[in-house]
Amino acid sequence: MKIVLATTNAGKVRELSDMMSKANLDITVSGLMDYPDYRAPEENGATFDENARIKAVTAAETLGEVVLADDSGLCVDALYGAPGVLSARFAGEGHDDDANIEKLLERMKDVPDGKRQARFVCSLCLAFPNGGFFVVEGDCPGTIARERRGNNGFGYDPVFLLPDGRMMAELSGTEKNLISHRGAAYKLVMPQLRALLKAPKQTL
Ligand code: IMP
Repeated sequence: MKIVLATTNAGKVRELSDMMSKANLDITVSGLMDYPDYRAPEENGATFDENARIKAVTAAETLGEVVLADDSGLCVDALYGAPGVLSARFAGEGHDDDANIEKLLERMKDVPDGKRQARFVCSLCLAFPNGGFFVVEGDCPGTIARERRGNNGFGYDPVFLLPDGRMMAELSGTEKNLISHRGAAYKLVMPQLRALLKAPKQTL
């Protein structure tokens, strides 16, 4: 069976492909780069679930394929859930991870140590050409540090402190997958993919 991952990020496609092989699932993964004429919809949802659904349902209906889409970000309690769906552009359009972290640390500078809880969230939506879909959500709790540490990962990883005292950016890729919001969401979607392989094709 084939699944389209609603992304043009070759790394994400490879990662899901590896996951399918490791789980012994006979699923071929392709990305949106294989559909150069496809125009992705605007991600204007108010929640991660909504954005994942917009991306997956639109692509599934347009391409006539089973599509998986993800949306993720950081939610900080003291900032009432911000940056949330705006995580990638917290410091403004065209700014990078570094500027986003700078803005986060500045906003958090007066927040006391006991009140710096945050979580990474990842929503995954699996959508079918007939309009059907379902959404799962995984998360990873931690706190926002006062200074950066670690060289791995991306985004807010250098200031995301895990309950065991390590910074997310100090974990290897394999270690991160085991505890991350994305790993948690994929764990939830795996049984659905397994069931899909057994479903008659005309039901999709
Ligand atoms: P995306 O939905 O995977 O594109 O993620 C959106 C934004 O959320 C990224 O640009 C990062 O700022 C943040 N983010 C999502 N996942 C992670 C993570 O695992 N580590 C650090 N930042 C993340």
